[in-house]
Amino acid sequence: MTDERKRRVLLKLSGEAFGGGQLGVNPDVVSALAKEIAAASAEGVEIAIVVGGGNFFRGAELSQRGMDRGRADYMGMLGTVMNALALQDFLEQAGAATRVQSAISMTQVAEPYIPRRAERHLEKGRVVIFGAGAGLPYFSTDTVAAQRALEISADVVLVAKNGVDGVYTGDPRKDDSASKLDQVTYQEALVRGLKVVDSTAFSLCMDNSMPMVVFGMEPAGNVTKAIRGDRIGTLVSN
Ligand code: UDP
Repeated sequence: MTDERKRRVLLKLSGEAFGGGQLGVNPDVVSALAKEIAAASAEGVEIAIVVGGGNFFRGAELSQRGMDRGRADYMGMLGTVMNALALQDFLEQAGAATRVQSAISMTQVAEPYIPRRAERHLEKGRVVIFGAGAGLPYFSTDTVAAQRALEISADVVLVAKNGVDGVYTGDPRKDDSASKLDQVTYQEALVRGLKVVDSTAFSLCMDNSMPMVVFGMEPAGNVTKAIRGDRIGTLVSN
């Protein structure tokens, strides 16, 4: 028996990516993403995924427009489940075995979130998709990605971004002088207010020494590379 442990990653995919910039799910985008994930899974990497839901609803935005924040956040969480199911479908079409676990019980569509069972699925080579965030209002899926990575003992959190290829010294879409960092500490990211991932996610990873790689989904192949452990994007660590 060998006790060599396989690489285990927690991949965070934003809902914005699923919609291709629009409301709902863009099948072409999700299918392409699924193929990249399935390729890395076939190479033997254990992959767990937290999906966002910004292509459907963001609780904070709905509450600014008059909705109760808690209720709006639950709508946001339900959006992440739709993305989880879409991703599951395309992953299976691409030949990967998958399971969806939801933090809000809905037994007809997904398993409940059971971390030990999730780990068992990973050991068996199944891609595990976590839907419904943490099941708690006032949280973001970035924070959930950090928490799930810790709970399932992942080696790294991989944050796939749309339209930006790492952590910058400022917002590259607004500031021409902003430059990309190859590496940055959590402390520095927090002090400088680098907002590419929310601060709760950064601090949870910082306090528990969980490294994070922030990278761009483009060009094609990047998601597979990041999962495999190729050095792309920005490494955030202590
Ligand atoms: N959400 C929540 N609790 C969680 C995770 C998500 O309330 O644990 C809600 C929140 O309203 C959030 C929405 O779900 O705005 C969608 O998630 P997020 O904004 O993180 O998605 P992304 O920006 O990654 O697409």
